[in-house]
Amino acid sequence: MDGILIDGKALAANTRAEIASGVKEYEAKSGRKPGLAVILVGDNPASVSYVTAKEKACAEVGIYSKEIRLPETIAEEELLRTIEELNHDKTIDGILVQLPLPKGFDEKKVIDTIASEKDVDGFTPINVGKMLIGEKCFLPCTPHGIIKLIEFSGMDIKGKHAVVIGRSNIVGKPVAVLLSRKETNATVTLCHTGTPDIAKFTREADIVVVAAGRPNTLTGDMLKKGAVVIDVGVNRIPDPSKPKGFRLVGDADLESCLPVCSAITPVPGGVGPMTITMLLWNTLLSANMV
Ligand code: NAP
Repeated sequence: MDGILIDGKALAANTRAEIASGVKEYEAKSGRKPGLAVILVGDNPASVSYVTAKEKACAEVGIYSKEIRLPETIAEEELLRTIEELNHDKTIDGILVQLPLPKGFDEKKVIDTIASEKDVDGFTPINVGKMLIGEKCFLPCTPHGIIKLIEFSGMDIKGKHAVVIGRSNIVGKPVAVLLSRKETNATVTLCHTGTPDIAKFTREADIVVVAAGRPNTLTGDMLKKGAVVIDVGVNRIPDPSKPKGFRLVGDADLESCLPVCSAITPVPGGVGPMTITMLLWNTLLSANMV
C-alpha cells in the first residue's frame, strides 16, 4: 500500500484558526492587534513572493503587518537604524528581515540587531542558544513546523530513529536539536555532504527529514518500509508547460518514495504553509509575553 501525503495546508489551516482565536483574545484584553514588521531589501522575485505570502497570512489571522520595502542601494546603517526603531515600536511584536539580503550586506550583523524578544524567526544567537539548552524561546519556524508535521502524520516521535539530511543553521541543525530534545526523544543522525553513505543511515530510519536543496537527494530505495518523510527542499525545475516556465519539486523523489514510506510531505503544500504558520504563532506568543 502506498504512503499518504501529509497535508501541510490542512494542518496550517487548523493551526491558523487556533492562532486567529488567540489573536482575538489578545486584542480584547490589550486593545490592539499583535504586530509583525517585515523588512524586504531589494526586489528578488522569490523574496517578494515570500513577503507577500506572509502579509496575506497575517491578514488571515488578524495580525497587523507592517511592510517595509527598502531599495538594495540603501546603506547598511540605514537598515540597522530601521530595525532599531522597530525594536522600540510598541505596536510591533515581531521583526523579520527577509533573507537572503542583497550582496554587500552583513546578514549576521543585521540579524543580530533584531531584539531577541522580537526575533520571531528565532535566528538571533540568543534564541538559538536558548533552543539548544532547552529554555523558553522563539523556535525557528521551519524546524518547529516540521515537528508539528511529523506529529500530524500520526508518528509518535519518542524512541524513534530520525535521520536529518542537511546541516544548515536555519533547517538541518535546529531540526536535529528539536528532534533530540527530551520532549520529542528521538535518536538523531545528522547527514551532510561529508557523509559517505547516506542510504546506510536512512534505511535504518523511522523518520527522514531531507533539507539539502537538491532534487532526488532521497529516493525510495534509501527508505525503510513505513518511514515518515519530511521533504523540506524547494527546487525550481524548468518547465515550459507552466505559466512561470518552471515547477517546484522537493529533495525527495516522490514517485519512488511514496510506495515505501507511510507518509510524506508534498512540495508544494507540505512544509511551506507550516513555516509561515509558525511565524504567526511566534508573533502571537511575543505579543502575549509583553
Ligand atoms: P543550505 O543552507 O544550502 O544547506 C543545505 C545543506 O544540505 C547543507 O548542510 C549541505 O551540506 C547539505 N547537502 C547539500 N547537498 C547534499 C547532498 N547531496 N547530500 C547530503 N547533504 C547535502 O539549505 P537550507 O537553507 O537548509 O535549505 C534546504 C532546502 O530547503 C532548500 O531547497 C530550501 O529552499 C528549502 N527550504 C524550504 C523552506 C520552506 O519553508 N519550505 C524553508 C527553508 C528552506 P554541507 O553543509 O556539507 O554543504
